[in-house]
This record gives sequence, C-alpha cells and structure tokens, in this order.
Amino acid sequence: ESTRELLLSRIRDIPDYPKPGVLFKDITPLLADPAAFAALTDTLAELCVRHGATKVVGLEARGFILAAPVAVRAGLGFVPVRKAGKLPGATLSQAYELEYGTAEIEIHAGDLSADDRIMVIDDVLATGGTAEASLELIRRAGAEVAGVAVLMELGFLDGRARLEQGLADAPLEAL
Ligand code: IMP
Repeated sequence: ESTRELLLSRIRDIPDYPKPGVLFKDITPLLADPAAFAALTDTLAELCVRHGATKVVGLEARGFILAAPVAVRAGLGFVPVRKAGKLPGATLSQAYELEYGTAEIEIHAGDLSADDRIMVIDDVLATGGTAEASLELIRRAGAEVAGVAVLMELGFLDGRARLEQGLADAPLEAL
C-alpha cells in the first residue's frame, strides 16, 4: 500500500457538515491510526527538510495536530498561528475574507526572525484564504516562506491560485 493510498483510506467524508451542501473531509480516522499518522508526519517532515525550513508554522486548529509532531521529527521549532485574541504576547494580526464576512489570525511577532524559512502546515487547503493570510504574517514578521504543505487540497476551490502571489516561487505541496 502506498503512503498516498494509506492516507486516503483514513480520511472520512462527512456530508452536510458544518452546513448543508458541504462535504467535510474528516481526518480523525487518520489520527487514530498510528501507522497512518506516522506516515503523514514522516512525509511532511521530509518536505520541511527538503525545502530548507528552519521552523514549522501550524494553523489553528487541525494544523497544530500535524505541525507539532512534524516539527519534532524534522528537528525544527514549532510556531502557532492562532485565531485573533488567543495569543498572550505582542502579536501581528492579519484579516482575510471568508465566503461570508471576515476572519483574523495572529502570530507572536517575536517567534520568527529574519534568518527563518517557514513551512506552513495545515490539514486542508480550501479557498486558500487562511494560508494566504499566514504567508502575509510570516513576511510581515520578517521571515522567508519555505512553502505550504497540506494533507489535502480541495482543487475545485482553487486555493492554489489564491496562494500564487504569497508563495512567490515557494512550493505548495499537497499530499
Ligand atoms: P480556507 O481558508 O478556505 O483555505 O480554509 C482552510 C481552513 O478551513 C483550514 O484551516 C481547514 O482546517 C479548514 N477546512 C476547510 N474545509 C475543510 C474540510 O473539509 N475538512 C477539514 N478542514 C477544513
């Protein structure tokens, strides 16, 4: 069984969640399977090393679950990007457009330095709004973007196009 097949087999489709018409990709079966979770962690950690990352940024909340073990596996630091109002120290904030309304995410301004190359990790790339805002935060914090790595890219929402500018020449890796 290839890693891709193993990972795919552990992702569950939940219809009409969180609202009617949405097919939610649920990764909890994958997390509950130690072989699948390890394969995912190892694959993402290899990508971090290959793209020369110095730190891993995880996007709240499922991105934390993936990025933390990846950071340890790759020997890199972990930095959280959180929803507004959750980080206790001095933050940089970035607002972005949702389908209805706006959202805001934050990073601790002191967590990144000019020497850092950051790999952003999340479970799902949907419209790309969250990842795009995180790239903005990383640049504003003075660091370089090593890439974005996600378990799944929902291709029909075209998040890849939305990220084009923020990524510049950095890769978007979707397993
Ligand atoms: P975006 O900003 O539209 O790309 O949405 C991405 C964010 O929403 C990520 O942090 C994902 O965790 C979450 N998300 C969107 N769709 C799904 C899904 O089907 N399953 C799990 N998470 C999702």
